[in-house]
Amino acid sequence: MTDRPTPPAPPERRLLLVHAHPDDETINNGATMAKYAAEGALVTLVTCTLGEEGEVIPPELAHLASDRDDTLGEYRIGELAAAMAELGVTDHRFLGGAGRYRDSGMMGVAENEVPGCFWQADVDEAAGHLAEVIMDVRPQALVTYDDNGGYGHPDHIQAHRVALRGYELAADQGHRIDRVFEICTPRSVVEEGFARLAAAGRDFPFEGVATPDDVPGVIDDDLVSVAVDGSAYAERKTAAMRAHATQIAVDGPFFALSNDLGQPFFATECYRQVRGAALPGEGRATDLFASGLFAADLPDGAAPGEHPGAEGSAS
Ligand SMILES: [Zn+2]
Repeated sequence: MTDRPTPPAPPERRLLLVHAHPDDETINNGATMAKYAAEGALVTLVTCTLGEEGEVIPPELAHLASDRDDTLGEYRIGELAAAMAELGVTDHRFLGGAGRYRDSGMMGVAENEVPGCFWQADVDEAAGHLAEVIMDVRPQALVTYDDNGGYGHPDHIQAHRVALRGYELAADQGHRIDRVFEICTPRSVVEEGFARLAAAGRDFPFEGVATPDDVPGVIDDDLVSVAVDGSAYAERKTAAMRAHATQIAVDGPFFALSNDLGQPFFATECYRQVRGAALPGEGRATDLFASGLFAADLPDGAAPGEHPGAEGSAS
């Protein structure tokens, strides 16, 4: 690919995220999305389902749930749009169009078998929809879950499969995404977060406190490829979490999902690279885009990124 044509227009950096339900993007990557969007990158979110089977936290909205009015999916389209407005992300799409794939519910429930649910989707067909987006956006970085979906939810596992298959299909069609990343949380960060939560020593509005086992995608620190410092965007992430009010309750630096267990909030978001050329430099990188490839973005005289050796390693 030495003959790469000049992109027709900015933004030069393009990030694609593939998520299962509205709210996953904000919880996992909200600070990352806000940061890159603010820096002028194109941030594209593909959400695979409407999250119809989610439990509803606010009592006054309980009627939306799938066992009552079954209008939660429609409602969550609005929550997602509001969250994306908070993050400054303008390109958000549903895989195959809104409502194409239904939320499959937690692993082992009857909803896993419902025709039209994402768990029952043909991976190649679903990945074909994603490949269309990839060919449209031509991202350099793709973010999704690990092969266990972070915590075993069928739609998250399927999102992982579809993302990696979509990556392959798009490569066959002429756009190979430079790097693919899985969402992860380093063990030390989880331990620190829960220590912070314990030290807060105050009464939560939540029923209980989560444990590190409740955090998806926890891995050993040395397996983490990139840590994106989104602390400057923590407030935006919090605001976006609040926009997903049916799913997330926020209290200061902590939040709870429908299990009502308090969890620490993370503004530094971590990724493990699973496809593509290694990022330049040694140790953990701080940017999902390779330093050096985007020299035009750097201020005059600035070293290309925080990884030592990045300049000379383009080989
Ligand atoms: Zn989810």
